[in-house]
Amino acid sequence: MAGTDRETLAAALEHANLPSLVPVLVQLTGDRRWLAEPYRPTRSRGMEDNDGGGFSPEVAAEIRGAVCDAVLSGDEPALPAPAGDALVELMTLAVGEPVPPEYGEMAARDMGFVDEPVRAVAPGTGPSVIVIGAGVSGMLAAIELERAGIEHVVLEKNDDVGGTWLENDYPGAGVDTPSYLYSYSFAPRAWSTHFGKRDEVITYLRGVADEFALRSRIRFGTEVTSCVYDEDAQHWTVRTRAGHMLVADVVITATGQLNRPKVPPIPGLDTFTGPIFHTARWPQDLDLTGKRVAVVGSGASAMQVVPAIAGEVAHLTVFQRSPQWAAPNDVYFSPVPDGVHHLMEHVPFYRLWYRTRLSWNTGDRVHPALQKDPGWEHPQRSVNAVNDGHRRVFTRYLTSELDGRPDLVGKALPDYPPFGKRMLLDNGWYAALRRENVDLVPESVAAITPRGLRGADGTEVEADVVVLATGFHPHKVLHPMDVYGRDGRTTAQVWGDDDATAHLGIATAGFPNLFLTCGPGTVLGHGGSYITIAECQVRYIVDLLVQMSERGIGAAEVREETEADYVARHDDAHERMIWTHPGMGNWYRNDAGRVVSALPWRIVDYWEMTRGADLRDFDVEPATSLGRSTS
Ligand code: NAP
Repeated sequence: MAGTDRETLAAALEHANLPSLVPVLVQLTGDRRWLAEPYRPTRSRGMEDNDGGGFSPEVAAEIRGAVCDAVLSGDEPALPAPAGDALVELMTLAVGEPVPPEYGEMAARDMGFVDEPVRAVAPGTGPSVIVIGAGVSGMLAAIELERAGIEHVVLEKNDDVGGTWLENDYPGAGVDTPSYLYSYSFAPRAWSTHFGKRDEVITYLRGVADEFALRSRIRFGTEVTSCVYDEDAQHWTVRTRAGHMLVADVVITATGQLNRPKVPPIPGLDTFTGPIFHTARWPQDLDLTGKRVAVVGSGASAMQVVPAIAGEVAHLTVFQRSPQWAAPNDVYFSPVPDGVHHLMEHVPFYRLWYRTRLSWNTGDRVHPALQKDPGWEHPQRSVNAVNDGHRRVFTRYLTSELDGRPDLVGKALPDYPPFGKRMLLDNGWYAALRRENVDLVPESVAAITPRGLRGADGTEVEADVVVLATGFHPHKVLHPMDVYGRDGRTTAQVWGDDDATAHLGIATAGFPNLFLTCGPGTVLGHGGSYITIAECQVRYIVDLLVQMSERGIGAAEVREETEADYVARHDDAHERMIWTHPGMGNWYRNDAGRVVSALPWRIVDYWEMTRGADLRDFDVEPATSLGRSTS
């Protein structure tokens, strides 16, 4: 094969994830002996990659040698595009445990073994679309609308693409979904680390914007303040902060859920005399050297900031209102070796199998473990026996990381079930807590004073800088835009302050031709990559728009009963899941206890639900005039 030779390939194969190599061998050779013992890898424990696959050194060497031979033979792969049961058989082999048959179709498309049908409008016939936001979802919408031949413009409040990844530039910021999964299915990258740091993620997104020539279709520095639907004209009028107006048949929102920082109304907040800011508004010229810093919060953002700055500051105090569960990950900080990049590039199917294993191991595999077992004897501490096993593993990890510090174990060990709040990966959090210059105060903040903070227990802490790692407003969906649908009703009126609903998280009654990405009930709490969900949503929306165009439909509004039925099933599923457990708060649910943000289904279920739009779910009106300009 061009670009490699035996010596280079053999050296690279020393870095291979062996469970990913075995299905590669089956595909390359067609030889079914690789499906049998002793070539079947063991399953991964937790989120580990299980690179060795549980193989003896002899078997590992045999697998590597066979891959070398097969790749260098130059022969065409025997099974270039397995699908259906054949693919599920290979998936089962790769992950070392049974994979249900319904995964075959989804995986075949993600891996490119089955082409997505091309859905496109006839030239000049499609609706015009305004996409709001040029982050992960908005960029994807622009790519897919272009493929479908649908005229569109993207309005972005910032001066660059990237959305949340542009705005969150605090020390240590990064993704804790594995990078090879947190990327578009059609746009791979040779990631330098297994978990991309913010700068690399934004570089990736900028690269995608360039590759797909998105910038010419994005108006930067354009913040949308309102969207108003005109029932007679069947179009939306979108106003920007600068006072401009644009008109389009359809609006697709891609504003994310974790976009608007939540600054809690702590008494005295305005009186602090030093810098005080939210993690998503980190001042770029700030030098923390020798400063006394206080961090409020212990969620995902704090988990990254604290280890990143602990060595630089004079003193760090963390105010922790609730402790968090954090899982270990063997490769969290490891660079991806060049050898792995070589394999991804030169061993056919290797990259696909590596990603597919990640998708399973970090995604739907976890879902059954988050269901409440009604017969479970310890419902306070866990929701079922597997979840109780997670508790044991994470407790053991925490106590070993904090060995010799019973004071910290007492403060940091949660009493609610693991996964009850969004599960975190240990970014060096426990090691940072052990430092002499770091204090953990297990209290919420009662007040901020001109020179520091006061904990709820009266603890006074002096600080030069206060970092608010206090999260976002996920329940204020589409906030702060004013979105007026039928009869002048706004989304804020229909949903209230924190109770948004939408069919599939995408379409809501009363708002024709408005489609959401990252809408209510679509955040992945159990694992996997949000980008997979965005791809489902955009595919569904584009399919709907193509059908509208083909049938001369000018307005499509999801039926009230369709949405109500979906929401009832969504809520019912959540009642059986961990995030409604009373033992903790989490940002997935609102003040009334209803889960508003997280997806209750497996990813494969949502993928199936969003394969295509069913027009019977919509009230439709014939077009009065389609194809209006967006300018
Ligand atoms: P978060 O998970 O909502 O955490 C906010 C923290 O602030 C919590 O510890 C919360 O305590 C605390 N808090 C909020 N209001 C407070 C108050 N008035 N007084 C004291 N403490 C207060 O927010 P986040 O850390 O920004 O993360 C949000 C989400 O963004 C994550 O769950 C994740 O989905 C995403 N994210 C991902 C990554 C990553 O991939 N590594 C990194 C950052 C963010 P309670 O727990 O008691 O409410």
